[in-house]
Amino acid sequence: MSSSTLLDPREAPAGPNRNEIIRSGLCIGCGACAALPDGTRVRMNFDRHGQLKPSGSREWLHDRNSDFSRICPFSPVSSNEDELAERHFPVARNRDPLLGRFDAAFVGHVEEDDFRANGSSGGLVTWVAAELLRRGLVDGVAHVTAADPTTDGDRRLFRYTLSRSLEALSAGAKSRYYPVEMSEVLETIRTVPGRYAIIGIPCFIKAVRLSCALDPILNERIAFTLGLFCGHMKSARMAESFAWQMGRDVRDVAQIDYRVKRPDRPANWYRAQLTLRNGETRGRDWWDLADGDWGAGFFQNSACNFCDDVVAETADIAFGDAWKEPYSADGRGTNVVIVRSPVLLDLIRDGMRSRRIELSEVDADFVIATQAAGFRQRREGLAFRLSWPRWGLRPRKRVAAARSGLSARRRMIYAVRYEISMWSHRVFWLARRLRWPGLYTTWARAALTCYHGFAYSRGRLGRMLDWLGSTGSEGRD
Ligand SMILES: Cc1cc2nc3c(=O)[nH]c(=O)nc-3n(C[C@H](O)[C@H](O)[C@H](O)COP(=O)(O)OP(=O)(O)OC[C@H]3O[C@@H](n4cnc5c(N)ncnc54)[C@H](O)[C@@H]3O)c2cc1C
Repeated sequence: MSSSTLLDPREAPAGPNRNEIIRSGLCIGCGACAALPDGTRVRMNFDRHGQLKPSGSREWLHDRNSDFSRICPFSPVSSNEDELAERHFPVARNRDPLLGRFDAAFVGHVEEDDFRANGSSGGLVTWVAAELLRRGLVDGVAHVTAADPTTDGDRRLFRYTLSRSLEALSAGAKSRYYPVEMSEVLETIRTVPGRYAIIGIPCFIKAVRLSCALDPILNERIAFTLGLFCGHMKSARMAESFAWQMGRDVRDVAQIDYRVKRPDRPANWYRAQLTLRNGETRGRDWWDLADGDWGAGFFQNSACNFCDDVVAETADIAFGDAWKEPYSADGRGTNVVIVRSPVLLDLIRDGMRSRRIELSEVDADFVIATQAAGFRQRREGLAFRLSWPRWGLRPRKRVAAARSGLSARRRMIYAVRYEISMWSHRVFWLARRLRWPGLYTTWARAALTCYHGFAYSRGRLGRMLDWLGSTGSEGRD
């Protein structure tokens, strides 16, 4: 259970305003600032690149006196993950530089009912949330469900919702690699008394913790935070691009499943499936799509370049995929879980005893190995990116800027990935304006070839890169 203490707002120095965070590419679009009770009704809208951003009056965006800089997860003056974890998990049994504080970690899946079959991974996120509802520990769970693009003004495919029943919760299972924001659910939690759990990627959970530190009502009502490990956040254009490449316009799409499960294939062979408004379905493997290599960074939110939390270090419990053999070969899906709350640890152990969930305890090294690519990007890669000259605000990270000790190959991988994530937004924007999907897909295939050349090449280019560099690890990511 959350054991947060309130922050004295006078403790933190005045920091940047919303406009500075947005213009510096540090706004992840979580919506926490739009939910601040400062008397202004503000909406989160899509920008021209399909990313959610707060849109308010000029005064609101430039206001330096609000609590904004203390609750924005990318603000250089807000508390960092270590500080928040120290406040929330003071007696955690383990501390690890990559995983943060935690009591125990596990690998496994849900046995009970269809949780595993319906989930993206082992189904544990929905199972834990369901268990919180079943035990009456919460009245509602804030998570992400399909929106109705026909009635939604800005045609969102997904949005945060509060589910109060097991049916509604189960309908929201699966990972959505799509922009979402929490302003409406935070406002509802503030307005409607009750106890709530909230599910989110690491920076969203951090924003919730920071918001709770300033707001006694949220602090009292948000009883549990369930984190999802995160590689990075995508823009809405990825769904549009997938639709283009499956021969349809995104306006024809009623639903998208980013990870259709096929138990006969390895879990990491992602397959996307569109359900069209006329009921037809179309599917393709990510690997066949021009921008389907997750590690290449297509449509990544620029703030993710400056994130150093892979495993939701501030969440009471955090879940990811067990990207490690033999688990990644099992198409039914397997979770890794990090538990930081004693109440949730009891709940997990109860589930294990009653065989409703099948979990084995693992150590920090095991969990880290399942997220090796993410940690390289957020530690070694982040240190490298921080060493680059930068326009705008300088993020304050737990990783120091560093250039040395990195092989030529790794430098090129990080640089090309950065360029792909930046240019994918712009090239897609142009292709959309010109109604010319081929412009984008041709560019994306060329960019991917270049990225793979640096990442995987064992030929002449690879030998040259290896010769140029001397240290550093190499891999597919
Ligand atoms: C953007 C993103 C990036 C990710 N990157 C990684 C990664 O690099 N490595 C890794 O191991 N795992 C990553 N995950 C987590 C992984 O995809 C699974 O969500 C996780 O393993 C839980 O699977 P499950 O079967 O237990 O969850 P399920 O039982 O399928 O339940 C998932 C729950 O999460 C909610 N949800 C889905 N999408 C979102 C969202 N965007 N924001 C908030 N809540 C959401 C759903 O509504 C549902 O309640 C990522 C998830 C997201 C959304």
